[in-house]
Amino acid sequence: MKIALFPGSFDPFTKGHEDIILRAIPLFDKIVIGVGNNSSKKYLFTIEQRLEWIKKTFSNQASVEVTNYEGLTVDYCKKINANYILRGLRNPVDYNYESNIAYMNKALENNIETVFLLTSPEFMAINSTIVRDIIIHKGNAKQFVPLAIQNDF
Ligand code: ADP
Repeated sequence: MKIALFPGSFDPFTKGHEDIILRAIPLFDKIVIGVGNNSSKKYLFTIEQRLEWIKKTFSNQASVEVTNYEGLTVDYCKKINANYILRGLRNPVDYNYESNIAYMNKALENNIETVFLLTSPEFMAINSTIVRDIIIHKGNAKQFVPLAIQNDF
């Protein structure tokens, strides 16, 4: 069984994240969206809220599961039997950051492959940090989040 972990902060989950998952569904038997919860990191939204939005977005997708995790991503992969880490790439900045993480993860756990999908052009500029800024300054962020959760924004 091909199981992929899609790790991230998802603070909040955006249309860019949704697009990566929807396009990865045909590639894997199961995709586990792992919402990171590091005690040293500051989040705008609680872990419960981030999980709820993602669960709502994929309520009709049988092969998508949503959980939270702490600690090393490769350790969590082993725990859930995932041989693949799924990540999205928007631009060269993402590439530089993501390739380092992927090389380090490969060094830690040679059996786990990182699979990258390029973002669809219409979502290239969507970025959780900017979405958070819009929300903090009371702007309208609806257009940047999945349709299923737009009423909450
Ligand atoms: P992290 O805190 O681990 O960077 P994010 O929630 O920001 O987590 O992102 C999780 C994954 O989704 C990363 O691989 C990131 O590159 C990808 N991603 C974020 N926004 C987009 C987007 N608009 N299009 C495609 N991939 C994206």
